[in-house]
Amino acid sequence: MLVVNEEICKKVIARSDAFKAVEAVFSAMTKGDAYNFPVIREAIGYADALYGFKSGFDRAGLSLGLKSGGYWPGNMEKGLTNHQSTIFLFNPDTGQLSALVGGNYLTAVRTAAASAVSIAHLARRDAKTIGMLGAGHQSTFQLRAALEQRKFERVIGWNLRSEKLSVLAEIAAEAGLPFEAVDRQQLGNQSDVIITITSAHEPLLMKDWIKPGCHIACMGTDTKGKQEVDPQLIASSTLFTDEVAQSTTIGEAQHAVIAGLKQEVDIIPIGNVITGDHPGRTSDGKITVFDGTGVGLQDLAVANTAARLAEEQGLAEVVNL
Ligand code: NAD
Repeated sequence: MLVVNEEICKKVIARSDAFKAVEAVFSAMTKGDAYNFPVIREAIGYADALYGFKSGFDRAGLSLGLKSGGYWPGNMEKGLTNHQSTIFLFNPDTGQLSALVGGNYLTAVRTAAASAVSIAHLARRDAKTIGMLGAGHQSTFQLRAALEQRKFERVIGWNLRSEKLSVLAEIAAEAGLPFEAVDRQQLGNQSDVIITITSAHEPLLMKDWIKPGCHIACMGTDTKGKQEVDPQLIASSTLFTDEVAQSTTIGEAQHAVIAGLKQEVDIIPIGNVITGDHPGRTSDGKITVFDGTGVGLQDLAVANTAARLAEEQGLAEVVNL
């Protein structure tokens, strides 16, 4: 069995590796080669923690396993990340544990890769301004991956605490782009691409603020009750997702579904666009939304790549169970 710790994951997984792994697994899901098992997520009644499992099997990529972990709100005071996770990979031929892979960095890069895949396939080719709603831990990964998908000329951002926006301004500066802090309405009015990555529980972006032709990757809502955008915006958009069953229950679409504004049949798996089964954006004026809920198969795909690269580069520790 291989042990691939967080530091090794950072060394071996580049953004392009995560992009390829996530794009391939979305495609495998559409072809029926990969499926996610039911998610378990429980408040454990200790340390205010939420703990659970995300698991699945990809017959095309040969990833079998699970990500286990969750959210420990008191971790920040201990100098640790609140979100903690570990990925377990099993040999699909024998069922033996094949790798134990640190999941914190990989969760950040696989989530960023999902929104980047959506931008690559759905945003207008001539998108110039990218708007970031949220400036927490995940936002920097999101912005870096997004900037590689189009020739953006400007980054704008909004965050509940505006002083945190400096993390996004630094990434824009690294890419040689100007950054401006804006209010939420300006962000909607001016952006060609928007990434929402907050823990909000109410709509932060209203339908009437959004520019025609905008692509929005809604990435923050991954649990029942969370919400980042106006359900009317979801209703009027062409809506794509990683997994329809999650989109309607724990994703951004849950609120539009509850309000009777969208139905499962209206939601298109992004894998269908990757395989060419769906045309994706069909006009320059359409608003496209990607509801990125986060599926276990994404974690397994990047972890599988990390384990392979770490082994090839002689960086993984080999342990006999
Ligand atoms: P974080 O705690 O570092 O940052 C939280 C962000 O949300 C900050 O920008 C904060 O200002 C903002 N925020 C919190 N409450 C808000 C409110 N009421 N109104 C407006 N903004 C508010 O978290 P993170 O690691 O950056 O993750 C951000 C979100 O993305 C979380 O909700 C997390 O669960 C989610 N997430 C989703 C996926 C996925 O696959 N879709 C993966 C990882 C994280």
